[in-house]
Amino acid sequence: MGIWTTSRHRGGQQLGRLEGKVALVTGAGSGIGRAIAEAFAGEGARLAVNDIRGSRARATAERLARRGGHALPVQGDVSVESAVKDMVRKTLRAFSRIDILVNNAGVVTFVLVERMPPRIWDRMIAVHLRGTFLCTRYVLPHMLKAGSGKIINIASQRGQKGGPWLTHYAAAKAGVIGFTRSLALEVSRRNINVNAIAPGPILTGATISARFRRTVRGLPIGRPGRLDDIVPTALFLASDDSSFYVGQTLCPNGGDVML
Ligand code: NAD
Repeated sequence: MGIWTTSRHRGGQQLGRLEGKVALVTGAGSGIGRAIAEAFAGEGARLAVNDIRGSRARATAERLARRGGHALPVQGDVSVESAVKDMVRKTLRAFSRIDILVNNAGVVTFVLVERMPPRIWDRMIAVHLRGTFLCTRYVLPHMLKAGSGKIINIASQRGQKGGPWLTHYAAAKAGVIGFTRSLALEVSRRNINVNAIAPGPILTGATISARFRRTVRGLPIGRPGRLDDIVPTALFLASDDSSFYVGQTLCPNGGDVML
């Protein structure tokens, strides 16, 4: 897959907050990942757009290019080591650097523990936790070599408060929060900034259901989250403004969890 691009006409305009940066966003073929990729591109970043579904990755890259961005679609399953290595290699070949990694790819299923086939458990942990580890594992050495980097992990309020039918998801997301803190302790003195976002219920294609509507009714803010409620937090964490945030989990969640 080649880089989708069209020329940018920004003569005389102020440069974006992420001008000159390269971002790799996983699961950017839809929902939150796509919105983050679009916002980063709007701030001048060049994007590697990953999704397990190649058609989705390509569609996002085309959207970004139509708006004047530079985007490389990189199909791959974040839980598969060879796919992640390939994705990182292609990104570096196209852009020579990766400044920002957003570990966003995710799935959600609803199953009671007493009925959960172990393969459902394993898949959940693999996509969220192994995926976050693998992408970080193969991007981090390049950031360390460059002397800077931003890693943003998308967790969930379920990783903080739990949820019935969601033990596998909640455990994976709690793991992402623990991974974020521990990695921050390892690398923050080497100028790698690691933080997480734990969104509350956000309206995306993945969430429209009666269960979602019930969850939203219990939210203190009284409405579902929108993509616009998450994107500014991701932009903040990707920008220089967040350099004193270390291993934190930011919570745009409509009041679902108050810390
Ligand atoms: P979504 O389904 O719209 O997007 C997820 C994308 O990830 C899809 O395009 C999917 O194809 C891709 N993907 C799935 N498995 C993958 C894999 N193994 N490798 C690469 N790509 C893969 O979902 P979303 O709501 O945008 O969720 C994005 C992230 O935000 C997830 O980590 C999710 O757990 C988290 N989150 C979502 C909500 C919410 O209410 N929507 C709340 C809290 C956290």
